[in-house]
Amino acid sequence: MTLDETHDPARRSWVDSANNRATDFPIQNLPLGMFTPGSGGEPRPGIAIGDNILDLVAAHQLKLLPESIREEAVFQSTLNALFASGPRPLQELRRRVGELLDAGPTGMIARDCASKLLHNMGSSTLHRPTAIANYTDFYAGIHHAIAAGVQLTPDDPLPTNYKWVPIAYHGRASSVRASGASVRRPWGQRPPAAGESAPAFGPCERLDFELEMGFYIGAGNQQGESIPLELAGDQIVGYSLLNDWSARDVQRWEMFPLGPFLSKSFATSISPWVVTADALLPFRAPAFARPVDDPQPLPYLLDEKDRAEGNLDVILSVFLSTERMRANGEKPVEIMASNARHVYWTPAQMVTHHTVNGCNLMPGDLIGTGTISGPSDAELGSMLELTVGGHRPISLPNGERRTFLADGDEITIRGRCERAGFAAIGFGSCIGTIVAAR
Ligand code: CA
Repeated sequence: MTLDETHDPARRSWVDSANNRATDFPIQNLPLGMFTPGSGGEPRPGIAIGDNILDLVAAHQLKLLPESIREEAVFQSTLNALFASGPRPLQELRRRVGELLDAGPTGMIARDCASKLLHNMGSSTLHRPTAIANYTDFYAGIHHAIAAGVQLTPDDPLPTNYKWVPIAYHGRASSVRASGASVRRPWGQRPPAAGESAPAFGPCERLDFELEMGFYIGAGNQQGESIPLELAGDQIVGYSLLNDWSARDVQRWEMFPLGPFLSKSFATSISPWVVTADALLPFRAPAFARPVDDPQPLPYLLDEKDRAEGNLDVILSVFLSTERMRANGEKPVEIMASNARHVYWTPAQMVTHHTVNGCNLMPGDLIGTGTISGPSDAELGSMLELTVGGHRPISLPNGERRTFLADGDEITIRGRCERAGFAAIGFGSCIGTIVAAR
């Protein structure tokens, strides 16, 4: 992967809204997603451009796509087959769509067919990008791991294996939902109250969000084989924003010794647009700077190129809107900001570690980074951290206070990449609203 004309900051599109500096989807981005047009029809793959979506099925029918993009990969209700195509065809697709949407002569053909090719994003329905066979959630945000560890396991806040092994658990794929889907407050067992021996049973009282990035697997690997670190980047098609909803009381009671189960499996929200690894090339960042006392990664997790540019510089922010705020027409309030760079293990290290035992990753599999908190108090990626385990409520501008999330609360995650000399690109948003337990 190298920088090319698709990253040229001077490039403009004939789609006007893509040239607005505030858009997340300029012509330099071109993220992939699944949508149903407002006019109806089947879910189909598309590419976001400004306030619009380029319909890949229509583009294929008009014979505008590269030959390497097979019909069977486009006429699908998920992006799995397209992701399985591998990095080369997806790069060719990005190049071609850039040409089609260019304000210059290469965009003339598509511009003439704009009414067939473009749909308004606001009136379309956006879906989960892939049929997710497997969802794995890592724990690579070291600042979160320490802060959460202080509360959950005060004697051993950062597990002794943390700096050696990228820790993860197998999450629940069936309950991953696209942004916009509501999240019902889960029931579960809560830790016994003081003086009690039996757990309480009822709706979760400590419902939380977790700010994460998610990424999708491309072709994957055969069972029994592994993906070496220098090839792992080719397996990452692109990234989305991910909210790993968490029931903290349920988690505290259930998680030892096998890890989270029902405290996480009830819902995970993802943003609908997959920002490709190609689009993110200008925004690569060095791997986490390990303090000198930290061990070097074992050889299978060590690669110079990965150390130099294995992370991403994505500005992440979380907004909260309560039911009362919305009723009064008040804007969501930003409750924290962080950066995707604050992960101790790079996404490529996660892929390599995941497969080192021969476990097969499949096209469209989703991998979460773990909660991405930063080092400061303004960069805490969950209510657990923001309120110090519910001991210090946060105050909102309208006077409301929160320890954990209340029914009607809406959490929005946003992500944006900015670097001098390049066009800024964004991820859109990942939104979920809590509805009462039933
Ligand atoms: Ca998580």
